Amino acid sequence: MEDYLKKFGITPYINAHDTLTLYGASRMAPETRTAMSQISECFVDLLELQRILGRQIAGLTRNEAAYICGGAAAGVQLCAAVCIAQGDEFIYRGLPSTRDAPDEFIVMHGQHICYDKAIEGAGGKIRLVGDADTVRENDLRRSIGEKTAGLFYFPAINFVRASLGLEKTIEIAHEAGIPVVVDAAAQLPPAENLWKFTEMGADMVIFSGGKTLSGPQASGLIVGRQRYIDDCIRFGSPNHGVCRASKASREDMIGLRVAVENYLAMDHGENSRRLSAMADRIIGALKEFPFIEPRRVEHGSVGQPYPRVFAVLSPGYSSAELAARMKERRIFTGSDSMENALIISPQNLTDEECAIVIAALTDICRKMKQES
Ligand SMILES: *Cc1c(COP(=O)(O)O)cnc(C)c1O
Repeated sequence: MEDYLKKFGITPYINAHDTLTLYGASRMAPETRTAMSQISECFVDLLELQRILGRQIAGLTRNEAAYICGGAAAGVQLCAAVCIAQGDEFIYRGLPSTRDAPDEFIVMHGQHICYDKAIEGAGGKIRLVGDADTVRENDLRRSIGEKTAGLFYFPAINFVRASLGLEKTIEIAHEAGIPVVVDAAAQLPPAENLWKFTEMGADMVIFSGGKTLSGPQASGLIVGRQRYIDDCIRFGSPNHGVCRASKASREDMIGLRVAVENYLAMDHGENSRRLSAMADRIIGALKEFPFIEPRRVEHGSVGQPYPRVFAVLSPGYSSAELAARMKERRIFTGSDSMENALIISPQNLTDEECAIVIAALTDICRKMKQES
C-alpha cells in the first residue's frame, strides 16, 4: 500500500501529552477504522443510521437515548439550539436569530470557558451567575427567568471549584422547569461518567468522540432524555439550519459506535496498570538528573483518574524550553509555567513510544546539564 504520509511530506509526532484536539487527541482502533472503511463504500439513509446507531449506543451507555454529532463543540451548539427551539421547527429554522424565544443560557462564572462560544453560535446568550470565587444557590434561583432557555454545566475539575455542585444545580434548574446540559467532553475515564450525569438528572450530556473514546476525531456524543434526543435528530445535520455546518458523516457515526463499545469492553484496571507502569518508567529514568524532581500526579488535565508525570525543573532550567526541544524531536509534551514542570502523559503512548520518549528526554536533559 502507498505510504501517503510520506508521499505528502507529513512527519508524525509522538503524543506524550493529553488527548489534545490540536495534536489529533487519540488513536482509533483497527476495528473502528475497518467499520468506517466498510461504510464508506455504501450508501445509507443518514437519519435512519443515526436512529439505529443512537439506540445501540444508548443501550451500551445505559441512557434513554443517544445522538452522534460532529464533535463535542458541535454538540454544545446543537443542545443550545434544541433548548431554544423547544420543538418548534419555525424557531429552529430562524436560528441564530431567536426572535422572541427564550434564548438565555445560564453559565456559572468559573465555568465560562472557550467552548461555550458554541452556545452563542446557536443564537444563545450567555448569562453568567455568581463570580469567580462563589456561586450561591440564590444567585442561581434569581437568575432564572422568562428568557432562560437552559443551563450549561462544565464539570472539569478546574471549573467546578467555584460552582454549585451538579446535583444541586439540577435540582434548582428543574424546579424552575429549565433543562440542564452537561459538557463532559473530556470527562473520561471513568467510563461510568457516560451514565452518571444523566442518572443525576441532566437532560443532555455531551462527550467528545475524538478524545478518550478514541473514535473519529470529528465525532461527538450526546446522551440524554428521549424528547431532547428526538429534537437533535429532527434539527441536527443533515437537516437544514444553523447546525448544518457541523455534520457527522456516516463514517463518523459508525466509527463512534465501534469506539464506544470498545471503550466499555476495555479492561480499565489493566489499562490503568499499563499507564501507571509507564509513568513509573519515565520517573525512574529522570532520577539521574539532580535538577529534575519528577513526581506522579494521579489525574488528567480535567480531573480524570489516570497518572501523569510532572518533572519539576530547578531554577535556571526552563520547562518550556525542554518541551520545545522535545517538540523538535517530534514529541509532544506539556509545560506548566507556574510549577516550571514538564508534563508527560502516558495516555496516548505505546510501550515502544514510551522508550523513545525516555531516550529523547534523557538525551536532551544531559545536553541541558552540560550547557548550564
Ligand atoms: C475538547 C472539548 C470540547 C470540544 O470537543 P471536540 O470533540 O473537539 O469538538 C468541548 N468542550 C470541552 C469541555 C472540551 O474539553
